[in-house]
Amino acid sequence: MFARHSLLLQAAAVLAVAVWASAAHAQAFPWRAGWCGLKDPEKLVACAKLIGFNALIAHSTPERMVEFSELARQSGIESYYWFSLSFGGKEREPFRQVMEPGDDKQFVELNADADPAKHGYQFGGEPVPGNHDVLLTPLLCFHRPEVKAFAQQQIRERLEVCPALTGVAFDYFGYQNYRCCHCPQSEKLFAEYRQAHPDLPPDKALDQFSLETLVTFNNELATYVRQLRPGAKLATHVYPVFLPQPLYGNQLDVDYCWQTVAWFFQPYWSAEKIRQYTHTVVDEQARYHPRAVGIPFVGVYVGRPVGDKSPERLAEELRVIWEAGKTSRLSVCSFNEFVDHPEVRLVVKQALSEQQSAASEIKQ
Ligand SMILES: [Zn+2]
Repeated sequence: MFARHSLLLQAAAVLAVAVWASAAHAQAFPWRAGWCGLKDPEKLVACAKLIGFNALIAHSTPERMVEFSELARQSGIESYYWFSLSFGGKEREPFRQVMEPGDDKQFVELNADADPAKHGYQFGGEPVPGNHDVLLTPLLCFHRPEVKAFAQQQIRERLEVCPALTGVAFDYFGYQNYRCCHCPQSEKLFAEYRQAHPDLPPDKALDQFSLETLVTFNNELATYVRQLRPGAKLATHVYPVFLPQPLYGNQLDVDYCWQTVAWFFQPYWSAEKIRQYTHTVVDEQARYHPRAVGIPFVGVYVGRPVGDKSPERLAEELRVIWEAGKTSRLSVCSFNEFVDHPEVRLVVKQALSEQQSAASEIKQ
């Protein structure tokens, strides 16, 4: 009995060391990923190799995803299937999130605003102080069992036809009003939550319920993917913002969690805010889940009516992130900007190459 107990202890110790070693390896690996549109997969993969990115995330037809994932695998680039709760189709309209009348009014006004930048609207990022934003993209309510089943079915079908995919990347997992959902199913679950937590004030209970259910949905779907295909990797971008607690990403049991440290649009975030957010994303990455790696996310649009980040501004943001996090792990959207604009591509290539040599000096 004692010998058996001792063997079990030894096995547990070996497993713990293996998990720790695997997590430590993942956290040291300079994972750099970009969301991209699949206009020209060959150009995307070539650009990733040129500037030192090693993962690309895309959504397209099964045929295009097969072509993209095979090409990426042959080139040593990881490929991820981008799954979003904004993809529902007409038949899933009954499962959409519901907002309060004031939020619906804001939605109509923002939609009607003809200014391309919509007077400071942040398109799902943290609103400018004093502004009231809601997401202009309708989202499915993940409190509904039908939505969970839809997510599982979409992911299962795509993984089955694309064996070369590295994994799945979640996006648009959050609330259209950045706080909660008011559909009948959410209201029912929240009423049950309040009964189970009678001491919590109503506002705090709603924030806590909304966050806990959001985290659970992410983590259960991640578990589903790992059971479906052992070894598949999970990534996510924390978006849209959850206002009661913007940097909740380390509660997500995924391999790579992208949290925004520098957003797309003006007013650009201050160096101090970029520094603080980078510290949280990197330093607290494994607080809840040993496998999770925190990845600083930078929004980059070039020459678009809604956003036009200059190469100088991007270079400055990358410098601040490096100084704060001492990591050259990075995620961006849109990666296509690096393909289409040589001056922006050069900035990121130089920054990453300088960081790489600095990292080897400090033995990251
Ligand atoms: Zn709902």
